[in-house]
Amino acid sequence: MNIHEFQAKDILRRYGVPIPPGDVARTPDEAKAIATRIGKAVMVKAQVHAGGRGKAGGVKFCPTPDVAKEKATAILGMDIKGLRVEQVLVAEAADIGTEAYVGIIVDRATKKAVFMVSAAGGIDIEEVAATTPEKIKYHPVDPRYGLRPYEALQLGFFLYKDAKQAKAAAQIMRQLWQAFLDSGCSLAEINPLVVTPAGEVIAVDAKMVIDDNELDRKPAIAALRDESSEAPSEVEARKANLTFIKLDGNVGCVVNGAGLAMATMDLVKFYGGEPANFLDIGGSSNPEKVVNALRIITADPNVKCILFNIFGGITRTDDVANGIVTATKANPLKVPIVIRLTGTNEEIAVKILQDNGFSASSDMDEAVQRAVELAKGGK
Ligand code: GDP
Ligand code: MN
Repeated sequence: MNIHEFQAKDILRRYGVPIPPGDVARTPDEAKAIATRIGKAVMVKAQVHAGGRGKAGGVKFCPTPDVAKEKATAILGMDIKGLRVEQVLVAEAADIGTEAYVGIIVDRATKKAVFMVSAAGGIDIEEVAATTPEKIKYHPVDPRYGLRPYEALQLGFFLYKDAKQAKAAAQIMRQLWQAFLDSGCSLAEINPLVVTPAGEVIAVDAKMVIDDNELDRKPAIAALRDESSEAPSEVEARKANLTFIKLDGNVGCVVNGAGLAMATMDLVKFYGGEPANFLDIGGSSNPEKVVNALRIITADPNVKCILFNIFGGITRTDDVANGIVTATKANPLKVPIVIRLTGTNEEIAVKILQDNGFSASSDMDEAVQRAVELAKGGK
């Protein structure tokens, strides 16, 4: 789950990370009022779940409250990477000397959380990683001890020569680590970590991604979810208890089991197609889940063909077949459908489908190839 910059900053402040004061606004007048209250130059910053807001024109310097209102008018409603800006953070503008990067990610290869730090922070950290990777230091954290003070200090000195600044950065990294652990993050980053001309080290931007599996035991964090900032299809799928991730391709996939869903996506790519989504209808399928899945997938205008790939174990393939029939009776399909099913109650399922004008195959390769062809406009 993504949270907004202002939410991540609220969390980090509680851990002692120095962050310029600010508040969130939903209208230009609110933005002006916050700027007036701060009483200094402010930044107006789009709150969307996307990076690179600065480059997209979603981060603006405002010397006066009137300019803050003007910039908020421009930014609210703006489209950044397909996401509509519903709110802006109005934060006291910092004087920037240098910009560094500090982040923690979960590295699946080492099964550890890894600190990534670089003195070359700011808006182009992806390019730094690609072209001059030696400017980034990677430091895996031993989960038994956390980030120990001397490790934090080493990282601090990788960023800054000045001992005071290195120590300040080390403390911020320890605070970031604790916030990362306590909040159940899969990613936490400060970019830029700024040294002001006065020599203070402060966090000017913050990003946190929460591991969805942590949400049940962290209700306060789960409450930070902002559904208005998420893809509507993903919100709907979550409510229907489907595991769904929207992708950019045109083959809509309905699969049971995460492993088979991954294998199906691989096979779609192998045959030259692009999946429109990852969707796992889960083990025990009831027809209603299939109906929901079809509604969500067919709402995506990119989808040019629907592929069912069902391996019946606990899942009864006749349930799936009934779901397909119910869903398509209520909402006739505008795109072709390819159905592959095998396993529990396969004969019954095939009969149900045939009686309703569908054909089904039991061969996965054949079905995927066919779906890719149809999505490309083939006959
Ligand atoms: P992002 O583009 O989504 O990562 O948004 P950021 O909050 O990181 O802002 C992008 C860039 O805008 C930063 O790297 C800074 O160069 C600049 N910026 C952001 N906040 C401030 C600020 O308070 N003062 C100044 N002078 N520049 C800022
Ligand atoms: Mn940033």
